[in-house]
Amino acid sequence: MLRFNDILERLLTYSPNADTDLLRKAYVFSAKVHIGQVRLSGEPYLIHPLEVAGILTQMKLDIASVATGLLHDAVEDTLTTLEEIRENFGEEIVQLVDGVTKISQISLRSSEEGQAENFRKIILAMVKDIRVILIKLADRLHNMRTLKFHSSERQVEIAQETLDIYAPIAHRLGIDWVKSELEDLAFQYLHPDLYQQIQTKIAKKEKERARYIDEVNRTLMKKLYENHIEGEVTGRLKQIYSIYRKMKEQNIDLDQVYDITAFRVIVNSIKDCYDVLGIIHSLWKPIPGKFKDYIGLPKENMYQSLHTSVIGPYGERIEIQIRTYEMHKVAEEGIAAHWKYKEGKVLEEADGKRFTWLRQLLEWQRDLKDNAEFMESVKVDLFPNEVYVFTPKGTVKQFPIGATPIDFAYSIHSDIGNHCMGAKVNGRIVPLKYELRSGDTIEIMTSPGARPSKDWLKFVKTSRAKTKIRQWFTAEEREKSIALGKEILEKELRKYNLQQAKLIKSGELSKVASDFSFQTVEDLIAAVGYGKVTANQIVGKILPQERLEEQKQGLEEGRIKTLIKKITRGPRDALLIKGVDNVMVRYAGCCNPLPGDKVVGFITRGRGITIHTADCQNAMAGDPNRRVEVEWDSTKEYIYPVRIRVYSDDKRGLLAEISNSITSNEANIKNAMVNTTEDSKAIGTFELEIRDLNHLKKVIKGLEKIKGVNRVERLRIEAQA
Ligand code: MN
Repeated sequence: MLRFNDILERLLTYSPNADTDLLRKAYVFSAKVHIGQVRLSGEPYLIHPLEVAGILTQMKLDIASVATGLLHDAVEDTLTTLEEIRENFGEEIVQLVDGVTKISQISLRSSEEGQAENFRKIILAMVKDIRVILIKLADRLHNMRTLKFHSSERQVEIAQETLDIYAPIAHRLGIDWVKSELEDLAFQYLHPDLYQQIQTKIAKKEKERARYIDEVNRTLMKKLYENHIEGEVTGRLKQIYSIYRKMKEQNIDLDQVYDITAFRVIVNSIKDCYDVLGIIHSLWKPIPGKFKDYIGLPKENMYQSLHTSVIGPYGERIEIQIRTYEMHKVAEEGIAAHWKYKEGKVLEEADGKRFTWLRQLLEWQRDLKDNAEFMESVKVDLFPNEVYVFTPKGTVKQFPIGATPIDFAYSIHSDIGNHCMGAKVNGRIVPLKYELRSGDTIEIMTSPGARPSKDWLKFVKTSRAKTKIRQWFTAEEREKSIALGKEILEKELRKYNLQQAKLIKSGELSKVASDFSFQTVEDLIAAVGYGKVTANQIVGKILPQERLEEQKQGLEEGRIKTLIKKITRGPRDALLIKGVDNVMVRYAGCCNPLPGDKVVGFITRGRGITIHTADCQNAMAGDPNRRVEVEWDSTKEYIYPVRIRVYSDDKRGLLAEISNSITSNEANIKNAMVNTTEDSKAIGTFELEIRDLNHLKKVIKGLEKIKGVNRVERLRIEAQA
């Protein structure tokens, strides 16, 4: 059994200035809180934190990590709170313990098929400090070593998770020995028969193997000596799991797996590596296609070595790895090696572009003064551009950083996105702008009446969400155009005693549609709404020329009548609406627009378009989706009712002067009303008939010139609440 003093001793070999009191305090604390607890093996629970701390010293981690190893289950498995850990051990250690506890919670979720990679990423992305992952790996390693005490069901579950998630993480971090041990242990529980078979077969030839390994070792050492190369040679049986993998990948049985022995030559320099390779290839015949240069082209996890397979003594295939001592450290300890050995030469020689995050870490390291500072900087974001979140059912989904619940909603289904009205993150309602964070569980609330907002386009991150939102607005735009087109066409057809519905039924309109090269009648009507085709053009296609002429004649005759109507109801032809004429138009009573005023139109179902001045409060409060662009047709002249108010002195004859001024400026007075005030002022309200804005300005100017008139204003009705 590992004792506390063994851990302390090991820590002091690589970290002689470590605060031994702190570590002892962590040990005493752990012993106290776990007292009385036993593991499934029947041993005191304390053995587990001790072993984990021991593994962490094998990884040569710093004292905070080793202390966390001792404390890592205190919060998860005892009544201890994070607050107590913080009080006793400070912020750094409480953060580490908290991180490890969080991972334990997350990895317990049931993982669906094919989710392994995502889970691996979520774990890596969640933690802010890489030491959390290293401590978790040590924890898992000891749990795997003692897995036999679990039920066989749990064994398979834990072993599968180890193989899917933890071994690949160890590999990614480059900690080879942890990765290999996790794999072999997991394999042992997942395929006990196969494991036994391979082990027995290897064991059978054990003596023979040992002799063979010894012979190859001696031959290689002799060659190194002859060539004045300093170094060492080791030979070993390959890891059981890697033999199994080879069998599976190449679909062969154990007897066909030849190179089950592997050799490693470790030398001082890269030049020596290539020299040794030359020596080996001249000694034994290389197997074509088996040479790999991971020195020139390092693996993503920083692994470097030369790999070759040759036909060794007695015609047996052997695999040989050649590397420097420094590369060896990296291969064995992975990321842990980097904050301990600062030579960094391996990396300087490597091609920068081939490295990803790990390379970046090392670059930071080079600029930093000491290990503590490096540790501070290793609060890595291993996947800086991605977040991983859960659906309520526990499926993992990946998003770019900054993604929102809207992105999440559209990733599930465009209907969910289009009807999204709110979102819950980890059970709490959040704004739709909320930025998702790794580990969040997202629930989308929908409502049949909810619809996308153009604002969403400003904050969604995924192109899927953007596209779907735009599509929705395009469809809505079309719907609007169809409604407007119908309105316009119906109005025009009525003049000729035609009915839209009948023309659609008889197929006449679909003939017109194809004349204009539209696929459907709906497309044609939408085009009328957009203003691409006028209703007049459509009538022209339906009626013979004579009927059109006749109708024109009739219109001419009714002109005077129409003019009167226009004055009373408001002229409707004075506006151009997206290039379409003959729209049913109403002038809003609140602002009484005049030609020359900036105006906007709003579609009112069944009532055509209502025209407001652009600055009218009712217009500004109107639904922007029903808004259409309109402008005045300068070629046409009509008369509009306008009300003005004249503030003047209460002076005899002034009213007559005002009336004269108005009529001399060619405006009729339809109505007038004058009130006097106590302070000898008069306020007159006049309803005039005016052609356009310039006409009105002229009238007002004329009034302002009159002596005694103080102020003239155009009247508008204020917005109603
Ligand atoms: Mn544990």
